[in-house]
Amino acid sequence: MSDIIKTRFAPSPTGFMHIGNLRTALYSYLLSKSQNGKFILRIEDTDQERFVEGATDVILKTLEMTGIDYDEGPGVGGENGPYIQSERKNIYIEYAKKLVESGHAYYCFCTAERLKELHDKNDFGGYDRHCRDLSPEEVAKNLAEGKPYVIRQKMPLTGKTSYVDEVYGEVEIDNTELQDQIMIKADGFPTYNFCHVVDDYLMGVTHVVRGNEYLTSTPKYCLLYDAFGWERPHYVHLPLLMGKDADGNVSKLSKRHGAVSFQDLVEKGYLPEAIVNYIALLGWSPKDSTEEFFTMDELKKVFSMDMLSKAPSVFDYEKLKWFNSEYIKKLPAEKYLEMAMPIINESCEDYIDKEKLAMLLHTRISAFSEIREQISFVLERIPMSSDLYTNKKNKTTPEICKTILEECLPLLEALEDWKNDSLFALLKQYAADSERKAGAVMWAVRIAVARQAVTPGGATELMEVFGKQESIERLKLAISEF
Ligand code: GLU
Repeated sequence: MSDIIKTRFAPSPTGFMHIGNLRTALYSYLLSKSQNGKFILRIEDTDQERFVEGATDVILKTLEMTGIDYDEGPGVGGENGPYIQSERKNIYIEYAKKLVESGHAYYCFCTAERLKELHDKNDFGGYDRHCRDLSPEEVAKNLAEGKPYVIRQKMPLTGKTSYVDEVYGEVEIDNTELQDQIMIKADGFPTYNFCHVVDDYLMGVTHVVRGNEYLTSTPKYCLLYDAFGWERPHYVHLPLLMGKDADGNVSKLSKRHGAVSFQDLVEKGYLPEAIVNYIALLGWSPKDSTEEFFTMDELKKVFSMDMLSKAPSVFDYEKLKWFNSEYIKKLPAEKYLEMAMPIINESCEDYIDKEKLAMLLHTRISAFSEIREQISFVLERIPMSSDLYTNKKNKTTPEICKTILEECLPLLEALEDWKNDSLFALLKQYAADSERKAGAVMWAVRIAVARQAVTPGGATELMEVFGKQESIERLKLAISEF
């Protein structure tokens, strides 16, 4: 095996990228990049019945958006292509025939009816190896007659097969438990069980990183390597990603836990960088450090296989939200506005200072999808109760606020320079002149214009966002409601 580490991500195009799959891609990528290795993308689309239009594009787009770049793969090329399995059909047949010749595989001519009968009887629990010992003459005759066939792997009937997984340690299985699984189907397409082994070998993959659902099937794959006389790769199986159930238990992360695809999370306003950072920590931790923030470049430096955990990780949406809010805060204003403005433009009237409104929210959202809810008080004059004017700290009551508003209104009407600084100076001056606490004045005005208690930004910032006319109208409305 070559000295240089080579890993791969081998997704089946299903039309969406489950977060667990993305984590597999990320770990596989990081394992190779942390050691200056190579990373391959291979599309596993031999199950033609499950073909989904545009599904490969979803994979390519996800990898592009997350910064997982590959050295070999569709579109990029490489010496071991093609990288889409349906384009490699003939290669697999050739290799399957080699195993037939060496006695590690055999043609099976059993009809669908026979297999169904066998299945219905169900006293064996699998294929009964009916064609395993057909004579070469019988096989030749059947082939000459054009009988449909599949090619099956000839499993050893005794002994055990084992391998050492880098995360889980030794995995051993009794060969009697292994089925003579199909390698090439009747339509000529290979099964995953066979073709991924051929590809991993031909593409020079040194470390197979994937979900642990393959942990106990891997002995079968090891037997294929052995049958070909190829050196087995290292195996790195990753623990399942779990979700928290309503009853406090955990189960495999699925839709009922929330958004589970990368696209859904992006649509909900999560940043790819935040998603990558969070999922990097779902099964791996940095050595001798409690640091939680990592860019992709940093991950490439610090990632190491020995810090992988075999305990299942629980996907915590709250934690992802927290990461996201931190990443949003760190976005340069220009980049932040690029993402926030379309949402604001879509709902706000033109008299609103939209960019200022967007900036008020920059440090106050944990996902872009929260913007709509946060600005609902800007879009309409929501119903309010005068109880909101009561505030202990500022010692305000509805009566006091009423007076404040009535006194401030003409001053504000006279103000020409409707900017935060001027508005702030005016209200401060009024507070000083009327011997009131500035906090009380700000409270009264903020409640009157916002009509809700918690707001992004203070009284004068909000008035600047609303513009003069809307602010004055809201103040007058508030006064009329006492
Ligand atoms: N196509 C398989 C899947 O998506 C790949 C498993 C593997 O990485 O070997 O589950």
